[in-house]
Amino acid sequence: MRPNSQAPKHRASHDTEREFGGTLGAICIPIFLPLTVLFLICVSRSPEASVLQWPPPLPSTDQLWDPLAPVLLLGWIALHALLYLMPLGKVSEGLVLRDGTRLKYPINGFHGLCISGVLLMLLLGLGAPLWYLFELLLPLAVCAIAVSFLLSIYLYIRSFWAPSHALALGGNTGNPLYDFFIGRELNPRIGNFDLKYFCELRPGLIGWVVINLGMLMKEVELRGSPSLAMILVNSFQLLYVADALWNEEAVLTTMDIVHDGFGFMLVFGDLAWVPFTYGLQAAFLVVHPQTLSSFGAAVIIALNGIGYYIFRKSNSQKNQFRRDPTHPSVARLETIATATGKRLLVSGWWGLVRHPNYLGDLLMALAWSLPCGFSHLLPYFYVIYFTVLLIHREARDERQCRAKYGLAWDTYCRRVPYRIFPYIY
Ligand code: NDP
Repeated sequence: MRPNSQAPKHRASHDTEREFGGTLGAICIPIFLPLTVLFLICVSRSPEASVLQWPPPLPSTDQLWDPLAPVLLLGWIALHALLYLMPLGKVSEGLVLRDGTRLKYPINGFHGLCISGVLLMLLLGLGAPLWYLFELLLPLAVCAIAVSFLLSIYLYIRSFWAPSHALALGGNTGNPLYDFFIGRELNPRIGNFDLKYFCELRPGLIGWVVINLGMLMKEVELRGSPSLAMILVNSFQLLYVADALWNEEAVLTTMDIVHDGFGFMLVFGDLAWVPFTYGLQAAFLVVHPQTLSSFGAAVIIALNGIGYYIFRKSNSQKNQFRRDPTHPSVARLETIATATGKRLLVSGWWGLVRHPNYLGDLLMALAWSLPCGFSHLLPYFYVIYFTVLLIHREARDERQCRAKYGLAWDTYCRRVPYRIFPYIY
């Protein structure tokens, strides 16, 4: 097949509004975010654990490289690719694509999590030194960053052979740096193996909880038993990952799958950013143990529970409404019509704020940081970063919804004036 870079029908999308700071963002983000990952890991294990310390704690080359790291990382990705291909769970269809077809996806991520759990327990039973993940964290992050770059280059090159209807509308500007970063092809596949869907919830997300378990085992190695703070961080984040995989089908209607191309932004986010920065609290606790009172723990558990409840209920309500608006659980909710034929919820969770799911997610994010106490900023990195991410994501979604629904969206905004935080924002 001929490469498609010159196809005239693509030019219409060259004027698409650029996101993430356009070309400048596309140059700076792939340089600075990988450095940020390495920097944060180094800071989390330094005695000061200060993001502002100068000079920053720079690692030696020995600390950055261990030949075991690429073996473990590639083995982990291969294991999950194998589990993805196993005939477990059901097969679901994605939304209708521009050419009128629908892709099929295996819904077996939760099986992947359970099988990984069993394998890890077996390894632990056999005396495998899982705590060594603490020592390997930097080399593993270096390898994950390298894999992200290599995969993104592969995706960029292969996208020139994809038919035009398979390209993401926003990833075909003609600027190679921007397109490499934002992603040209919407659903790159090798046969039936969907690369974006695979990376979205499996090796990185499950890898994150395995790293957390490694940090817990390091604590056991150092102090004989895991601390309450470490147990809370591990449990909360395991619940979050298990929930995402249990509800894996919902990912098929998210912006990442439906709208964004698969380029460096998502590849790096899935394979390097999530597993190595979302669990910084556990890495921090290994070197900076915290004592937590039972009352403090109860308050934090309650906060995580409330956040989880809002997050799960609001996401499920919208998913149910989008799948079957006549279902008894959503049929009585108040809605407004839009010119597209779809309706918008204006009562229930989606009548409280325009993104109740983000509100719940942020409450949980705060609950993950609180077990680390108030002496350092580093464990709060995730909740700060996530607030910025979700405010930015909310603005992107809002732009897309306004373009989709026009006046009906303005009516919704008048009916539900707050975006994420009731009476605040
Ligand atoms: P959302 O689930 O918030 O979906 C937004 C879409 O919902 C809109 O585009 C619109 O699509 C539909 N919608 C908006 N308002 C209404 C309404 N009133 N009634 C009916 N439909 C409505 O998208 P995200 O993918 O951003 O978030 C999904 C979850 O993932 C969230 O809980 C979020 O917190 C989480 N998340 C977590 C991240 C992490 O790194 N941990 C990163 C990003 C997200 P349409 O009308 O076309 O159906």
